[in-house]
Amino acid sequence: MSVLNLCPTLPKSLHKPLRWIGAALLVGLLQGCANTTDSGAIGLQRSQLLLISSEELNAKAAQGFQQLSADAQSKKKLNTDARLTQRVRRIGNDLIAQVSVFRADAKDWDWEINVFDSDEINAFCAPGGKIGVYTGIVKRLKLTDDELAAVMGHEIAHALREHSREKASQQMVSNLLVTTVSAAAKVDGSLLDMGSQMFVHLPNSRSMELESDVMGLELMARAGYDPRNAPKLWEKMRAASGGNKGLAFMSTHPADEERIAAMQENIPKVVHLYEEARARKAASAGKRAPAARKKGSGKPQKSQ
Ligand SMILES: [Zn+2]
Repeated sequence: MSVLNLCPTLPKSLHKPLRWIGAALLVGLLQGCANTTDSGAIGLQRSQLLLISSEELNAKAAQGFQQLSADAQSKKKLNTDARLTQRVRRIGNDLIAQVSVFRADAKDWDWEINVFDSDEINAFCAPGGKIGVYTGIVKRLKLTDDELAAVMGHEIAHALREHSREKASQQMVSNLLVTTVSAAAKVDGSLLDMGSQMFVHLPNSRSMELESDVMGLELMARAGYDPRNAPKLWEKMRAASGGNKGLAFMSTHPADEERIAAMQENIPKVVHLYEEARARKAASAGKRAPAARKKGSGKPQKSQ
């Protein structure tokens, strides 16, 4: 197996120059092609380039999250609305309870969910499971529980797939390619730039966005939130983005036809999971109901 077999999209014009790439990079690439998650009902299959350690990235993300939370706390902008915080955490925890479908280790991550007071339309899940939801996205878009589950499921999917780690790995290869190959082979700079763009930026963040949408659909369905309502989130996002294209979340998450069409195409794969989850919830509510009646009749029962 050679480095040339790793990525079929690698242009032939780069085959010769790549032979000069150092053994360290080659070994790294061979070890680095992996898949962070299982495929789930949606059948996600995409090999990822992962060269840097997740521990380091997760530790930095956790540090950043603590800092952000401490800053918000000092400005009295952290989890100020108890009802909203409870709602966001309930939905977040419902989704987190499903993550082992995609990766067994994620259930044991040190998950945290905070709500930040800000008019900004934004939400994130940093590497390792640090979730932030801005009050702006919930209030300005008047999100329903299903829509909130769709946005949080999407963000959790980014973390499960370790897209940040993948992008950092791609950047590392990009830097190494440009310095190593141009020095060793004296290839034409523009050709190299074009080739390295193709190599390291495929699959690009657009693909990451689409797979996060689809993985998010499965997470929300399994958690008992109706995936058929997920496109409504993006339609609201599109309506809100009208004159505010500069907003960070919307510029990185264009709510266009392609995104909504890909979602519609995948919804039928997960609707049965939603129905099963709802049936389970109804059954467990049914089990609780007689106990409640007994309690009301003056004969309290110990809950099972
Ligand atoms: Zn995204």
